[in-house]
Amino acid sequence: MSLDETQLVRGGSFMFHPAGSLPQFTVEDNSEDALAIAEAARDFVNGEIIPRDEEIDRLDLDLSRQLLRQAGELGLLGIEIPEAYGGMDLDKKTALLVLEEMARQASFSTSYCAHTSIGTLPIVYFGNHAQKSKYLPKLATGEWVAAYALTEAGSGSDALGAKTTAVLKDSHWLLNGSKAWITNAGFADLFVVFAKINGTHLSAFLIEKTDPGISTGAEEKKLGIKGSSTRTVILDNCRIPEDRLLGGKGKGARIAFGILNIGRFKLGAGSVGAGKRVLEYTLKYTGERTQFGKPLNAFGLIQQKLANMAVRIFVGESMSFRTIGYLDEALARTSWESETGGADKMKAIDEYALEASMSKVWGSEALFATADDAVQTFGGAGFSTEYPAEKIYRDCRINRIFEGTNEINRLLIAGTFLKRCGGADGLPLKEAAEAPLDLPADPLLRTVALAKARALRVIALAQADRGPRILDNQEAAARISNLLLEIYAMESAVVRARAMSATGHRWAALARDLAMVYAQEAWNRVQAEARMLAAELASDAVLDTLVADLLAMHAPAPVALSSLRQSIAQSLVDQGRYPLSAV
Ligand SMILES: Cc1cc2nc3c(=O)[nH]c(=O)nc-3n(C[C@H](O)[C@H](O)[C@H](O)COP(=O)(O)OP(=O)(O)OC[C@H]3O[C@@H](n4cnc5c(N)ncnc54)[C@H](O)[C@@H]3O)c2cc1C
Repeated sequence: MSLDETQLVRGGSFMFHPAGSLPQFTVEDNSEDALAIAEAARDFVNGEIIPRDEEIDRLDLDLSRQLLRQAGELGLLGIEIPEAYGGMDLDKKTALLVLEEMARQASFSTSYCAHTSIGTLPIVYFGNHAQKSKYLPKLATGEWVAAYALTEAGSGSDALGAKTTAVLKDSHWLLNGSKAWITNAGFADLFVVFAKINGTHLSAFLIEKTDPGISTGAEEKKLGIKGSSTRTVILDNCRIPEDRLLGGKGKGARIAFGILNIGRFKLGAGSVGAGKRVLEYTLKYTGERTQFGKPLNAFGLIQQKLANMAVRIFVGESMSFRTIGYLDEALARTSWESETGGADKMKAIDEYALEASMSKVWGSEALFATADDAVQTFGGAGFSTEYPAEKIYRDCRINRIFEGTNEINRLLIAGTFLKRCGGADGLPLKEAAEAPLDLPADPLLRTVALAKARALRVIALAQADRGPRILDNQEAAARISNLLLEIYAMESAVVRARAMSATGHRWAALARDLAMVYAQEAWNRVQAEARMLAAELASDAVLDTLVADLLAMHAPAPVALSSLRQSIAQSLVDQGRYPLSAV
């Protein structure tokens, strides 16, 4: 699908379009080339990574480096690097398909993402020609490995509070300070380091591991992703040439946060890929283990968990590929040939910052719920290191912490949404909240339409009542985010299921069941969040009107979910896997 200029979807605008009316990009629309690369990634992961799962997790740094090199030989490190600098310059959708495969081994995929995403992309988008020519070809082949060093012991969420300094002296920068929790630090050749010039202007610098004055600390002893290197990076009068400043003086925040948006999309997609692997081994185990003379997968409460895992995969995929479709459309209107190519591309990515945060939060929490279901489904074996479930439970916990904690991302989602609703060309919150209900006949779309109407009504009234102070109450801000998250997730799944039905896809009936389960449960959560938000934010007088309004609105008819889930579980058991993946 391709959109014309006037159809480009604005970030955050999904709340203001009738349910299902925006153009939808789905996992099902793939080019042959993208699928071929995703298949190559799958073969690489199945052939080289999964068989070395234990070795990787013993923190064999030479092995991780060698595997990154092999990935480079297959072209899997250069997907987002321009062709002129040794890469393939493919769309973000291809990058996401590959990442989903890589995410089947959490430690390796952390190294892969730190290298290809937050380590390499600052140079892709902000580097000058000399910097790109020097570093990108080496990063594309895996000859060099990159790391991104923003966090410090005293500044994590509050990244702008960094204390590391850079001073220009005799045409060289002298950097002093210490960076904490840096992925790939144990074997990286190149560090993108954020430091304040003269203690004030946060800026980015390219530091090579052989530069004088840079060293790394001991490996952190972690709860999970034990095979990924995490160390402090120490800068003690680290001296680098003047031309290693990246993107200009004071551009550090722009670079750091812009690149994190891409990392967040990817973390959401990676969570889906990891969830697929969990479902595969859980299906296998529940088919083999018997209790009361039956396989575990014959029990309703186990079928419920299997089905819920597939629902989360389906919804996560639908969200990720929807947003990445919008982003690819926007990026296709920019060009590396233009002098402002990198900046234009970054601007396109910024447009979807809200959706990037939603992908990250939703994906990381969905994967954690799936990992928890896996541990429970394995019973005692779920608690044992002899079986795979305990590892994903530990490994995926980090996803809620890095790339901005889920608390920070929730605050960003609510803050960005309300900011976009202000100003002259802002999103029309008040008008949309007061518009008459126009309910579609399709029960799934109807649920989405009702959820949007509920959420808009409450958010608009609360904002009118509280004004700018609305975000001072962080719990309330998180509730606004939860409403947006649930609705984006619900709509993405519903529209995809409808598109599959319209094209006669062989799994269309399964897709509809998956979307129905999610929509029904999400509706209940939207309902609860809307009421709690109203109670937090509206004054008593407004609250009375609001409650009366909410009660007067329709609600979707309840659906018996157990039979839907049993049918979903049966399809999964028959296939031995989640059958809707692109590859
Ligand atoms: C394994 C691992 C790998 C990492 N890799 C990298 C890397 O490669 N590069 C890099 O730069 N960093 C990396 N990090 C750092 C990571 O991004 C930070 O840990 C994260 O941003 C949180 O910062 P913090 O640990 O200082 O927690 P804090 O900022 O101290 O937060 C502690 C808690 O307080 C909450 N909190 C903080 N501020 C607020 C607020 N304003 N409102 C509400 N709640 C708040 C947080 O959500 C969190 O729950 C990594 C971390 C780990 C553990």
